[in-house]
Amino acid sequence: MNVADSRRLASELEKMGYEPTITPNDADVIVLNTCVVRQSAENKAIGRLSSLRPLKTKNPDLVISLMGCLIGVRGNSRIQERFPWVDVVSPPSDPGPLLQYLGERLAREKSQAQTDQLNALLDGELVLPREEQGRLVSAYIPIVYGCSHACTYCIIPSKRGIEHSRPYAEVLAEAQSLARQGVKEITLLGQIVDRYGLDLPEKRTLAGLLYDLDKIDGLKRIRFLTSHPNWMTNTLLDAVAKLPRVCPHIEVPIQAGDDAVLEAMRRGYTVQAYRDLVNKIRDRIPGASIATDIIVGFPGETDEQFQETYDLLNELRMDVAHLARYSPREGTYSARKLEDNVPAAEKMHRFRLLEELQEGISAEINARYQGQTVSVLFETFSRGRWRGRTPTNKLVFVENDQDLLGQERDVQINWTGPWSMIGTLVE
Ligand code: SAM
Repeated sequence: MNVADSRRLASELEKMGYEPTITPNDADVIVLNTCVVRQSAENKAIGRLSSLRPLKTKNPDLVISLMGCLIGVRGNSRIQERFPWVDVVSPPSDPGPLLQYLGERLAREKSQAQTDQLNALLDGELVLPREEQGRLVSAYIPIVYGCSHACTYCIIPSKRGIEHSRPYAEVLAEAQSLARQGVKEITLLGQIVDRYGLDLPEKRTLAGLLYDLDKIDGLKRIRFLTSHPNWMTNTLLDAVAKLPRVCPHIEVPIQAGDDAVLEAMRRGYTVQAYRDLVNKIRDRIPGASIATDIIVGFPGETDEQFQETYDLLNELRMDVAHLARYSPREGTYSARKLEDNVPAAEKMHRFRLLEELQEGISAEINARYQGQTVSVLFETFSRGRWRGRTPTNKLVFVENDQDLLGQERDVQINWTGPWSMIGTLVE
């Protein structure tokens, strides 16, 4: 979501006449777009913010802007008091305050006609930053902002605000515009992306949106993340199975493999319901890959409860598991009411056990690709190798001198590991 927000901001800044620089030392404007989902992310943002102070001291005209969840939709006066060298703050997904601040500065130097022209440009479509035009293969499109689910551990609802879907026509227009600018793959984003449209007056659905996006000329692949198990309808799964450009890859977090922990997290489903969903996905979308998220060391998680999670992951054999150690986040229900009583060393131990298990599972699943021919969309080239992904989101490297950027080509896989594969082009 932050990558998408940053790209939109970069697009708007370019419309105002700014250009990217390689180092912060050369910048007139520095924007730090922040995440606070775990304490480690927040610490990183604070560290980076502190490191910018000398630049501001050296150049008082430099504009330093803080954006994202460190500010949140309700603002954060403590942060502004602690870091007085920050000139302007913007909430997540909202470049408005920074653009207004810069606009006012520019307006002092420009005529009214130039200012009006600029405002008209800023209200328009998402024009990719110049260095990405014709080069960006895969782009994100936020379709649901905020979240209203309120899992007990999660800070996102309080930072990104209540759930609201972007208007249907706006999403379609953005996808069409990105396709015209050379983008081949779009990923639709939302904290609970499968709830898309339920809050819109005309009651749209993600499945309906996928049908319309699938018709856009130039787009080769469509993905979406992250889904909540309770909102994955049969209609949505059938759309994924049926539509040629929608990739058979589902990101659907379980978070824990024990019903009592799931309840304490207020996730709203049981382990059996999740198991049934995984079986249904595999049934309706043959060959689908599935990724999940798991938090270890939630308050009160016992050895036995952790073992349930371990056994479930072992049983379900997901393609990918994004693992996290529980981190109490200020203001959340779990931070206020539940004791963070699993010691840090134990959280790490559980994390490592799952990591090791998943490494084996991913290696085993990927090994099935050995000798197979798969379709790969190439995204970047670095150190003599092209990097791309299969429709099932497997990372593939191919050594080749041709310009393969943005091409979808058949590749024969001749090496597989848990995190990536290597292959050769089928000419
Ligand atoms: N909205 C999605 C969902 O949970 O259904 C995922 C979005 S969240 C940005 C990404 C992941 O961060 C979550 O799935 C969860 O595993 C992890 N996460 C969120 N809050 C956390 C916390 N307090 N401690 C540790 N991990 C956390």
